[in-house]
Amino acid sequence: MLRSVILAASRSSQVERLVATAPYTRDVVRRFVAGAATDDALRATRVLVDDGLAVTLDHLGEDTVTPEQATATRDEYLRLLKMLAGAGLTPAAEVSVKLSALGQMFDEQLAYDNARAICAAADAAGTTVTLDMEDHTTTDSTLEVLGRLRKDFPSTGAVLQAYLRRTESDCRELAYAGSRVRLCKGAYKEPESVAYQSTREVDRSYVRCMNILMSGDGYPMLATHDPRMIAIGEDRARWFDRGPERFEFQMLYGIRPEEQARLAGEGYTVRTYVPYGDQWYGYLMRRLAERPANLVFFGRALVSRK
Ligand SMILES: Cc1cc2nc3c(=O)[nH]c(=O)nc-3n(C[C@H](O)[C@H](O)[C@H](O)COP(=O)(O)OP(=O)(O)OC[C@H]3O[C@@H](n4cnc5c(N)ncnc54)[C@H](O)[C@@H]3O)c2cc1C
Repeated sequence: MLRSVILAASRSSQVERLVATAPYTRDVVRRFVAGAATDDALRATRVLVDDGLAVTLDHLGEDTVTPEQATATRDEYLRLLKMLAGAGLTPAAEVSVKLSALGQMFDEQLAYDNARAICAAADAAGTTVTLDMEDHTTTDSTLEVLGRLRKDFPSTGAVLQAYLRRTESDCRELAYAGSRVRLCKGAYKEPESVAYQSTREVDRSYVRCMNILMSGDGYPMLATHDPRMIAIGEDRARWFDRGPERFEFQMLYGIRPEEQARLAGEGYTVRTYVPYGDQWYGYLMRRLAERPANLVFFGRALVSRK
């Protein structure tokens, strides 16, 4: 019910106008999105890097339906990477890319070609790309594209979602030397047939997946704001003797900034995921629609900085 209401709102230009002009909207958006322009993304990145954090930048927009939109997204990433290198912000900053924004929904080869161009630009800029993971209907296609990209760009990062039943097995497949894997819980509404539904089951899966990645040969990227998962991550880092160059923590821009600073202060590598672009309305609303629990997630972030 709540999900349907939010989804309907996400498609309504009237509600968008209402939300965009509401008194607290600017504060909410500014808290979670770096800004609309590439310069805003660079400014936010500079502040974070100066504070000792690594960054991954996401140009907002997904579910692209035309080749022109997909090409425009690719070109924005190429411009961004050039600007990051010019500003001396690589390799501290890398980019996160959604294949659906590059044409995956209607032409997988086009999405691959666009992603490949972005990987080549990142390589020339001295940094890397991570392929965000979207809903479960795209997992096979995204891992397939990842495999092709890694042939030429082996540092291309993968994302695996602990809520999917298949993910333990995917972790085993991807825990090889040089393989960068972001482990998150998963943000989409998925059916029981493919995904664990309870928090307890998802958390248990996250720990099992973390154990596989941290004991393996790859480079785990633990993306979570959950204090329990972070504490277990710190424990596994000690147990498997992983220093700051052999794994990292990741959190979203505007969420638990003090915890990000604490972990960085303790010598861990911490990467902040920074979204930017003018499509923030769809981004925030889709996040809420995909997972109404995110209402609490975003709301909590507004009142808490810890
Ligand atoms: C860097 C990064 C990249 C991501 N990439 C993807 C992706 O490619 N695909 C995808 O599906 N999902 C992605 N996600 C989203 C992810 O899957 C989860 O939906 C999201 O991170 C919420 O899960 P959680 O582990 O942070 O904690 P939750 O399970 O939401 O919360 C657990 C506990 O964490 C603490 N906590 C959580 N939020 C806050 C807050 N705002 N303030 C204070 N405490 C808080 C609370 O103690 C809470 O009880 C990404 C997340 C991150 C951090």
